[in-house]
Amino acid sequence: MSDTSSCGIHPSVRLALLDLDGTLYRGHQPMDGAAQFVEQLRFHHIQPVFFTNNATRSRDEAALHLRQLGFAVASSEVYSSAMAASTLLSSTFALTCGSVVAYIGQSGLREALQSSGYHPVHPRDPLWSIEKDQAAAVVVGLDMDVSYRQLAEVADVIRRTDAFLLTNADAQFPSETGLYPGNGAIGAFLQTASKRVPRIAGKPSPQFAELALRQFGVRPEEAVVVGDNLETDMACGLAAKINSFFVRTGISTTDAELSRWRQRFSENGHTLCVYDSIAQIPFLDEPSL
Ligand SMILES: [Mg+2]
Repeated sequence: MSDTSSCGIHPSVRLALLDLDGTLYRGHQPMDGAAQFVEQLRFHHIQPVFFTNNATRSRDEAALHLRQLGFAVASSEVYSSAMAASTLLSSTFALTCGSVVAYIGQSGLREALQSSGYHPVHPRDPLWSIEKDQAAAVVVGLDMDVSYRQLAEVADVIRRTDAFLLTNADAQFPSETGLYPGNGAIGAFLQTASKRVPRIAGKPSPQFAELALRQFGVRPEEAVVVGDNLETDMACGLAAKINSFFVRTGISTTDAELSRWRQRFSENGHTLCVYDSIAQIPFLDEPSL
């Protein structure tokens, strides 16, 4: 379902920020035609960027997962909220290379912190009780194994450092057995316990898109966002002033909500296009002279 005949990928587009879960695949099932859509992007010389709030997987793990689902992806094309959080530590909290960073999260976040030159320490690490006192900031990402006691330890560090960053604030995420609490739920626990408000690195923060675009040397007007979630993907596109495509393969939404969002985009001088799935998004031809 398209809104207007001109609602497609314009020839001036050079990069597409693609959401993963609910847009390219659902769990372990690729969406019909999604891999072909990514091939079409490459055919049109448009750089696909796999743009995800999921901080649990490293770049290599996320690329491997996508390849297993049939997408042709290089690790360097993945941009996650864990990477954005690591970058924001220097720009927002003035952390220098080598600083100790306390974190809650899985291997993806740990690796991102390490590759930005920080020394990550988790309450489960053997040297935690010594190193936590040296921590200059706290980064929190989804951690399926975190305990109450570990959260209590980290809340202490947040109160002391006053530097508190969430990779993303997603309230929930879909699993094979229903909705699970997302990293936003862990963040809310820590916010209540520490009485500190976190900064958020991932979608809907416009900085997340800006950091991804900067890495590829592309301006917002040369990019598009594609995603299935209004509150994260589309809100990020709107705030970063990027034309966006909403696909109806993920979080369900009403027509009334969609028209409100279209209105917001148009007030902002940008376009929100709506399609039933990513495979239906058309590539527009160069206008004939
Ligand atoms: Mg999604």
